[in-house]
Amino acid sequence: MAAVSDGSLKNCPFCGARAEMCVYGRAYGAVCGSCGAEAMPRPSRGEAVAAWNRRAYEKLEEAVLDWQLRGYSKAECLRALERGMPE
Ligand SMILES: [Zn+2]
Repeated sequence: MAAVSDGSLKNCPFCGARAEMCVYGRAYGAVCGSCGAEAMPRPSRGEAVAAWNRRAYEKLEEAVLDWQLRGYSKAECLRALERGMPE
């Protein structure tokens, strides 16, 4: 896994740190260099950027707020998000 800088990625919605684009074999996935939040890897860099930015400012933020309202910690939410977005 190689990390490369990508200025088009928005900052992490959890901790505000800069996100990095990682290459997993032939897939690209954005990950936060600080707290480890990540978006699902995609086959192209552009799709991975879009997936992270969309997730960073819509689904993730909403999911964390929702989970915190239900009494879960941010860490628990992050672990759950690694397995898939809760419905
Ligand atoms: Zn982060």
